[in-house]
Amino acid sequence: YSTDAAIEEPIKPSVQVEHTQLLINGKFVDAASGKTFPTLDPRTGEVIAHVAEGHSEDIDRAVAAARKAFDQGPWPKMTAYERQRILLRAADLIEKHNDEIAALETWDNGKPYEQSAQIEIPMLVRLVRYYAGWADKIHGLTVPADGPYHVQTLHEPIGVAGQIIPWNFPLVMFAWKVGPALACGNTIVLKTAEQTPLSALYVARLFHEAGLPPGVLNIVSGFGPTAGAALASHMDVDKLAFTGSTETGKVVLQLATKSNLKPVTLELGGKSPFIVCEDADVDQAVELAHFALFFNQGQCCCAGSRTFVHESIHEEFVAKAKARALKRVVGDPFKSGIEQGPQIDSDQFEKILKYIRSGVESGATLETGGDRLGNKGFYVQPTVFSNVQDGMLIAKEEIFGPVQSIFKFKDLGEVIQRANNTQYGLAAGVFTKNLDTANTLTRALRVGTVWVNCFDTFDAAIPFGGYKMSGQGREKGEYSLKNYLQVKAVVTPLKNP
Ligand code: ADP
Repeated sequence: YSTDAAIEEPIKPSVQVEHTQLLINGKFVDAASGKTFPTLDPRTGEVIAHVAEGHSEDIDRAVAAARKAFDQGPWPKMTAYERQRILLRAADLIEKHNDEIAALETWDNGKPYEQSAQIEIPMLVRLVRYYAGWADKIHGLTVPADGPYHVQTLHEPIGVAGQIIPWNFPLVMFAWKVGPALACGNTIVLKTAEQTPLSALYVARLFHEAGLPPGVLNIVSGFGPTAGAALASHMDVDKLAFTGSTETGKVVLQLATKSNLKPVTLELGGKSPFIVCEDADVDQAVELAHFALFFNQGQCCCAGSRTFVHESIHEEFVAKAKARALKRVVGDPFKSGIEQGPQIDSDQFEKILKYIRSGVESGATLETGGDRLGNKGFYVQPTVFSNVQDGMLIAKEEIFGPVQSIFKFKDLGEVIQRANNTQYGLAAGVFTKNLDTANTLTRALRVGTVWVNCFDTFDAAIPFGGYKMSGQGREKGEYSLKNYLQVKAVVTPLKNP
């Protein structure tokens, strides 16, 4: 890995922070308490800006605005075509400001600028356009009845959607939540993650410039146990969507149940297997397994964090995986060609280093890495462990950092059993040229996504979500519309059947 000089001397971002207030009812406003919290640059730990800190009073104000916009405003009642056109205009504006938004995202999150500018902001645009496309294609059915009745179903928006998102892909998560909710005619109160409040405020402003009526999309920055919990337990929120850790998912589900039984979708943690079979091309498998784990500084809920390699190619694979990690270019995310920036914050950074120590103590072989990089900010060396055993902490818990764990297996039956032996079930990677092996694995793995000879393919139309404790429900694709619609059956007698 490169110990880049740019780690010592951070590059100045080419963007200014324009919005730090809460966005309620179409206006930027201070928190009711007047409080702010600092959002930090992960490259240095220094303050980027002080951001309004929402608490329950602010959630109350935002929910009231969303309620009014739903009950009395034009949004749910306007034609679907008009809604679609507003969403398409928003996508155009986001596209126009791609580079500024990407710079803001990288500054607040630490991910490589090229990833923000070339993958994530374009993905946000694609998702908004995708859901805009659905807006005028949502309709109910005519249903046959055992009698002289005309029966139809109306697919109606649920109302006020509360949405809580994490910091690892701030705007992609924003799009997964906001896209389908708006296409279906709902109004929204969205709480961003406290680590990354900036980009959603900018993008939400663009939705308003595109013609979104006030109160339809409200953004509250703030912390989980205060603003987040207030949203999850609000009596006037009709639906809750959450992405984050499994631990917090359990908390918000309880809050939703104890308050008004609002339906909840959850996208939670994972410990995804990446299975390299004996027929695999080792070089390709090494590269894909490396990407599956290290992408986004290893901060992916679906990271391929258990690399299972067939014993016949294991030795070669480990040597090459180590060499690939050593070549990984780590440095200032604003610099061109950087593959890995800093981790999000000191908490995550410390947690990752603790897991690395635990790996060493429990007897896994540290092939490379294992420490921080530089002496500023939250950079971690790309780390590879081999000889990882299923019972070790690093084999069981989500690390959320650039730490690859390699396991050895003998046969398919064994690897299926071991891959499934986890509380999680988010995703899996399968690397083989053999169709029968691929079919056997894709059927046997208890996960929401299986990527065969690819990984992290995230098209707008592909549903995503978890089996087991990785979540409830699906986001993206047509499946996500269900989360934001309710079905009304309308029955009328037929007078002259
Ligand atoms: P992470 O460990 O990745 O930060 P979390 O699940 O804690 O994951 O955070 C994901 C989102 O959930 C963030 O927006 C965070 O503020 C929010 N959150 C954390 N705790 C709570 C809570 N008790 N109630 C509601 N939201 C919460």
